[in-house]
Amino acid sequence: MNAYATNASKTKVTALPGDGIGPEVMQATMTILKAANAPIEWETAEAGAEVFKKGLVTGVPRETLDSIARNGLALKSPLETPVGYGGKSANVTLRKHFELYANIRPVRELPGVTTPFSGRGIDMVIVRENVEDVYAGIEHMQTTTVAQCLKLMTAPGCERIIRAAFGLARAEGRHKVTTATKANIMKLTEGLMKRVSEKVAPEFADLKSDHIIIDNCAHQLVIAPEKFDVIVTSNMNGDIISDLAAGLVGGLGIAPSSNLGDRAAIFEAVHGSAPDIAGKGLANPTALLSAAIMLLRHISAFEVAEKVEQALFITLAEGKNLTGDLSPRGHGVGTAAFTDQVIANLGRTSNLPSRHYKKLELKSWPELTAHMEPGTRELVGIDVFLETDLGAEDLGKALEEVAQDTPFRLNGISNRGVQVYPSTGGQTFLVDHFAARFMLKAPIPLSQSTASGQPEISYLVQRIGAKFTWMHIEKLQRFDGKDAFERPQGEG
Ligand code: NAP
Repeated sequence: MNAYATNASKTKVTALPGDGIGPEVMQATMTILKAANAPIEWETAEAGAEVFKKGLVTGVPRETLDSIARNGLALKSPLETPVGYGGKSANVTLRKHFELYANIRPVRELPGVTTPFSGRGIDMVIVRENVEDVYAGIEHMQTTTVAQCLKLMTAPGCERIIRAAFGLARAEGRHKVTTATKANIMKLTEGLMKRVSEKVAPEFADLKSDHIIIDNCAHQLVIAPEKFDVIVTSNMNGDIISDLAAGLVGGLGIAPSSNLGDRAAIFEAVHGSAPDIAGKGLANPTALLSAAIMLLRHISAFEVAEKVEQALFITLAEGKNLTGDLSPRGHGVGTAAFTDQVIANLGRTSNLPSRHYKKLELKSWPELTAHMEPGTRELVGIDVFLETDLGAEDLGKALEEVAQDTPFRLNGISNRGVQVYPSTGGQTFLVDHFAARFMLKAPIPLSQSTASGQPEISYLVQRIGAKFTWMHIEKLQRFDGKDAFERPQGEG
């Protein structure tokens, strides 16, 4: 990757001016980059509200996708998510279309931006997995009262984001990568990220690494944010803590981010289209400009990136000609005056040094190695999820009867993850959605080329289906003699 379209030593970048204040902050950013002689040639393309209004439900025309695919790079202003018209979020469309798996959110105290945390030296990066986890949106109503969302996490998906985090730590001269998970509760999904991190970390022996439970991470981010360097985490965890962390240094309005994939990278401001100030020339372009600085470093234009960053730092530090959101009431200037001030400061150096950056090297999906096929794989049982109004005792008796004369025995029944049959004496409130765990009397070796285990499963499910409405089935497997499934709460 990273072979971008160039023209006379300029790198082509797709610019999406977007909605609301988007065109204003894009214009400001382009003007500053031009004044700094940034080696970029813009190719402007459409996405967002106007596209939705023309009836395109994705909000992103084919020509725009083609432009980003061709250039491999885009700078994106905020895109409105339609309410009451149009379709899905255009931002999500872009993220999914280009499989932009790494969301990078730098969180650094900015000079002149005063917060309750000012002076603590906060300077970290949050690396959020951006395509897997519960945000894949695989949801099903199981009964009329029970909703289910599948949390899919994969070994390659974890490996590439962990490698991105360690690679980024190296590229930015950082020292430590903290993997934040909920592995104590979700031992298989979140635990996979922890295990992959432990497997990859030794390859980066020059960096320290540790693990933190995500809720403690949220706590520590408020208590002692300065102790974090790089945090890598799964999609939903990262969504929450990256906004929390942005709040520590001045809020979403000044935060940039990048979304990196194997073949494309999109850089953007974290804030939205701020419709209340759109068209008034009042928007602060700091976030989009900071995203553009990330883009410059991504294409190895380190010198010009530092020049623009230092001009921004000194403008903020001196507090002259800042926009209204960063100024005392009534003292703010417009976008154009702020832009002129940054340009006037090009070539000056602030008291806050830029980090020493190197090129970030990412491994692409086919180069990942964390997934190892197990030596042995056995089917040891199935969980059958079914809908019934019966109580646990009556259901247990009925299913024991169903399992008779099959290769399975009923091991137990759970309701919302808690064993209710045989009863443990717990006080679980029952919903109409049970998981019945049937274990094979003799495990069946599994091979991918045969239908091993399927006739046995079909026979049992047929018998269950004659008496109950089943919702879905999960195979219980053992890899290399180790259970590849969790036990319900209360199972002995
Ligand atoms: P928002 O656009 O971020 O605006 C919230 C408020 O923050 C604004 O009303 C404004 O406050 C202030 N603000 C944000 N950016 C600013 C800037 N650059 N300069 C000065 N002030 C700024 O959030 P929202 O109102 O929730 O969302 C509006 C639209 O944006 C929605 O359609 C949403 O879907 C979309 N959105 C898009 C993205 C994206 O494209 N990545 C992200 C978030 C939201 P005051 O003027 O009141 O002080």
